[in-house]
Amino acid sequence: AKNDGRNCFKYFSEDLTRAARERMDLEIRLRLAIERRELRVYFQPQIDIASGHLVGAEALLRWETDTGEIISPSRFIPIAEETGLIVPIGNWVLQEVCRQGRRWLNRGLAPIKLAVNLSSQQFLHSDIGEAIGNILRETGFPPEHLELELTESVLMKREREAIEILQQLHELGLGLSIDDFGTGYSSLAYLKLFPLDVIKIDKSFIEDIPDHADDMEITATIIAMAKTLKMRVIAEGVETAEQLNFLRSRDCDQYQGYLTSRPLPIAEFEKFRRDYRPR
Ligand code: C2E
Ligand code: CA
Ligand code: CA
Ligand code: CA
Repeated sequence: AKNDGRNCFKYFSEDLTRAARERMDLEIRLRLAIERRELRVYFQPQIDIASGHLVGAEALLRWETDTGEIISPSRFIPIAEETGLIVPIGNWVLQEVCRQGRRWLNRGLAPIKLAVNLSSQQFLHSDIGEAIGNILRETGFPPEHLELELTESVLMKREREAIEILQQLHELGLGLSIDDFGTGYSSLAYLKLFPLDVIKIDKSFIEDIPDHADDMEITATIIAMAKTLKMRVIAEGVETAEQLNFLRSRDCDQYQGYLTSRPLPIAEFEKFRRDYRPR
């Protein structure tokens, strides 16, 4: 039995070593990916529920490797966070989005809001106000068309500091969203402390509509709460017409999800914009 215990430990540490090696490998590849320009910004359409019009798009990062593999952000963002690489990557995303947004405006396309995810490192440990101010100036993208998405956990980490940074960002004239709402611990009272414009309902609540009565209740409550606070509310992860109908019946403002479109590379998103007709 003693031996078994030792063997267990041995296997356990071998597993750890392998996991650590894989992470290191991914970190090295990610550094190379940046140099080789293998990172891409995809856009997922956001639709106004009442009118059916395209009103925005969320920018989502993809890593297209030289072998044609597409690596999901959930695999490399955590590593980028830990290594600090997320700061240059995040600034690059912001710059790409603002440049692209400016190009679309220059071509005379109707303005839509472009939403960008901000990581905790970027938000709390880099001078994000100055970085965004510079990017807006350099690209000439109007701040009122830019929306920044932050998660509850980022805001709760350093509450006081977070409020100050949010105020600074607001002064630039851009919109602020709370992402993955409902998965953390924020209460109504708490939410009021932060200068936020948009609530995004986490897709974990949407996915089980209409099978889980609890999730429908929570979704309806979040929508009502957003209205009370005069915030816009967006549901994410909408995949079925039934889910959309439920959201419409509860007066949810906007949605995004596979029902309309997956996140698309720029050329395909442009085609989507040309072809899209409200249903
Ligand atoms: P998120 O911000 O919550 O983004 C929404 C995720 O839901 C995206 O996953 C999107 O592709 C996915 N999604 C959209 N509609 C549906 C649907 O109908 N069904 C399902 N099952 N999924 C849907 P994605 O693109 O894999 O991104 C994962 C996460 O990676 C994002 O979650 C975000 O936290 C992070 N991320 C992506 N791009 C960036 C970035 O530029 N910067 C930072 N800091 N994080 C990013
Ligand atoms: Ca998001
Ligand atoms: Ca989310
Ligand atoms: Ca669920």
